[in-house]
Order: sequence, then C-alpha cells, then structure tokens
Amino acid sequence: MTDLAPRLTRFRWELAAAEAAAALISGTANIRYLSGFTGSYGALIVDAQAAYLVSDFRYRFQAAEQAPDFEFIEVRRWVEGVADAIRKLGYQAIGFEPAHLTHQVHGQLAAELPGIRLVPLNGMVEKLRAIKEPEELARIEQAAAISASAMQRVMSLVRPSISERELALAAEDYIKKEAGAELAFDPIVASGTRSAQCHAEPGERALAAGDLVVIDVGARWQGYGADVTRTVAVTEADARRREMYAVCRQAQAAGLAAIKAGVRCAELDRIAREVIERAGYGEAFGHGLGHGVGLETHEAPRLTAGEDSPLAANMTVTVEPGIYIAEVGGVRLEDLIVVTENGCRVLTHAAKAPELPVLG
Ligand code: ZN
Ligand code: ZN
Repeated sequence: MTDLAPRLTRFRWELAAAEAAAALISGTANIRYLSGFTGSYGALIVDAQAAYLVSDFRYRFQAAEQAPDFEFIEVRRWVEGVADAIRKLGYQAIGFEPAHLTHQVHGQLAAELPGIRLVPLNGMVEKLRAIKEPEELARIEQAAAISASAMQRVMSLVRPSISERELALAAEDYIKKEAGAELAFDPIVASGTRSAQCHAEPGERALAAGDLVVIDVGARWQGYGADVTRTVAVTEADARRREMYAVCRQAQAAGLAAIKAGVRCAELDRIAREVIERAGYGEAFGHGLGHGVGLETHEAPRLTAGEDSPLAANMTVTVEPGIYIAEVGGVRLEDLIVVTENGCRVLTHAAKAPELPVLG
C-alpha cells in the first residue's frame, strides 16, 4: 500500500457507479495520478480487485519503484500488448478514455479484441484529479510561489527597447534556476497590438512607449503546475488602455469574490463576464474565465458557459478575464486560487496594482 492507494479506491467507486467491470487508462497524467508512474509509455488496467501497469522493458525497474500497487505487465508493442492483457484477463467489456485514445488506436484495439466491448468512460480520473489532496496543494502552492516570483522578476525588467523574447527568457531562466522547478509552459510575453493575441509566442519585437504587455508564466514543481498573468504598460498609457485594465481588474475581482464551494462554473464565468459586457467590451472577451491547474496546466474544472458542475473545496482554478482589441492590444489578469468552503485563497502573490501599472 502506498499513499496513492486511496486514489485507486476512489477510482474503483467511480467504476462501480458507472457499472464498468474494468477500465483501460491511457492518459499520461491519469496514469501518473492513479499509479505514481511517470514514464511516457504505458497504460493501466484496473478492475474491482486488481490493477496492472502495462509498459515495456525500459520501464521495468521504474514501474516497480514508482507504482508498487500495480502488477507490471511487460509488452513489446502498445496495442498488441494491451489487447493481449485484456484478452487474458477475461473481461467481456472494458472502459476506455476517449480523450486519450486516438481514433486509430481505438480501431486497432477493437480489431484485436473481437467480442469484447469497448465502452467510453469520460473524464472519470479527471473528476478525481480536480479536487486536490493536501500533498498536491502543497506542491501547487510552491509552483505558484515560484511563478509569482518569476513574474516579479520579469516586471522589473520591463522598459522600452527590451524584446519580448528577452523577457520570456528571463522568466524561463528564473524558473529553471529554482531547485526542483521546470516550466509548466513556455512563457507568453506579448506587446503592443500583439498583446491582443491570447497565446502569442514571444518574438523579437522590442517594447515601445505606450505598449500594453501581457506576461503569462507558469512553473511546475514536483509535477504540479501554476499559471499567472499580469498586464503592464511601457512608460505611458492612454485613457483607453487604462480603462481596459480597470474593467478587467473589476471583472477579476467580481469573479474572485463570488468563488466558493457549491457555485457553478458557468455562474462564475457569467458574473465576471457581465462586468466586461456592461463596460461595452463583451465582444473582446472571447475565452472562458478560467481552468483547473494540477498535473496539467489546463485540466478540470473549466470555468466557462455551459459547464454546469459546481466548484468544490480544494479545487485549484485560475480566474483570468481578458479584453483583446486587435488595433489596441490586450489585457489579462490571471491568478491561481484554491477553492474553500466560504471563498478562496489566492496562491499567486505577484503584485497587482488597482490601476494599469506603467513601468520602465
Ligand atoms: Zn496563463
Ligand atoms: Zn490560464
């Protein structure tokens, strides 16, 4: 028994609730979450009594060390090996993860398993992953602290003529120098009108007076990520850009104030969105309010319209409204928070001025 064993127990309850006898887990983060195995090649087969980790000889020792609750099945080729194991285990039907099995592999598996039904099980492990255990929260908190410090560092460098790429490299460098830390994703630094692209890749463009600069960084620490965004102006800012920032800030504050266990994801998105709509920028906020962060930078739950599920205590989600106008630029403010029974706790303590910070 390891400290991951309770996860396997909870997963088995989910399996039983779905009336599935067994499940094939192929999502990398889901494999890691349930078993502890961090290899890039493998699959789990879990039923009510037994749990197997299927991988190849390269991972024989790593599997024994990381996933002692799982019996190791060594295979040569993924599809044939997994199919062979399923056949030998004698299941009539087995659940699979449609989000983590390509159409091609699904077809190959089906062909290898005549008479065995493949049943789609949607987001079963993701649902468990959404609510963090204390140990996971500690790692996310550390990732958030490193991310916030990296953000402070980048903001301190903002001035005319420094390039987006130099700022992105500064964030990367800062994060990689922290023991145990790596990038959760490549830093985003977008300036001028490029800041209107939500996920612009940092380019050679040099910052210029009057620019908006959107900076989005995230560190990963012991497997768990964080995500934080700030927007600043370079040496001066006009009334339009100041207003965009102020509205975004109010929208984020409204979202943060409304968060607590039990509130529906779509409702939170609506509360923040209304602030932006009332100010006349509704069309310029084209993405959801936020997303879960954990083993993956984007995971359940999604704070977006149509997502009816309620938040629960110990979920970690971002709150990140944005306003993007092609000919002006963009603003986005993003913090990572942990949901509590009565509210939330912000984990990304990077400076966040009430008015658009003018730097340089
Ligand atoms: Zn982000
Ligand atoms: Zn984000």
